[in-house]
Amino acid sequence: MTPPMKRIGLLGGMSWESSIDYERIINEAVRDRLGGMHSADLVIRSFDFAVVERLQSLDDWATAGDLLIEAALALEFAGAQVLVLCTNTMHRVADELVAATTVPLIHIADATAAAIERSPATTVGLLGTRFTMEQPFYRERMEQLHGLDIRIPCEADRAVVHSVIYDELVRGVIRPESRDAVLDVIGRLVEAGCDGIIAGCTEIELLVGPADVDVEYFATTRIHALAAVDAAFDE
Ligand code: GLU
Repeated sequence: MTPPMKRIGLLGGMSWESSIDYERIINEAVRDRLGGMHSADLVIRSFDFAVVERLQSLDDWATAGDLLIEAALALEFAGAQVLVLCTNTMHRVADELVAATTVPLIHIADATAAAIERSPATTVGLLGTRFTMEQPFYRERMEQLHGLDIRIPCEADRAVVHSVIYDELVRGVIRPESRDAVLDVIGRLVEAGCDGIIAGCTEIELLVGPADVDVEYFATTRIHALAAVDAAFDE
């Protein structure tokens, strides 16, 4: 008999360039588990990323949080039993989202921290948007809740990674020069003692994959999507 599978609600479009990978990875993982023609039971709300990005740049996290809460409640109404916010950065408002909804949110930093804990890595470099690298919501959760040692790139390298994300990756632009630049940033983190790297932006995997890096590589889109599938089959 087919095991019961929960309906997963995806808050996506931030950007859709990585949300489509969430959908693909989740569906592939469900097919691997159940075989045949099985696929995931999903409800998806995909935002216009320009609207979200504007609120980020205005530092208006309250309005951005309200947008996500309204969408999450709509997903709940549509039967979602597990919520997945398909972006690292917007976990800036995860606590507000959890407080306003009744469906469990699979937190991307917790899923990633669990993957780090299962690996040999002890000192982990974090790549992402400036918000994710510089604000406490992501790093402190990993450090305080999970006891991890998280390092971030220097200011100049943070600027490079942030601009590759917003000027290229969320617009569907993949440039070999930018891959080299991000690999250089990773190289400096490794030189500084990191034995693992978090691709802490869901689009970074579109540019740099685990095969490009010599240390443990934590690709948050894949990790998060697979954690969502685990949650969908959790009793
Ligand atoms: N998807 C990205 C992330 O994982 C960046 C876009 C956004 O700001 O949501 O952080």
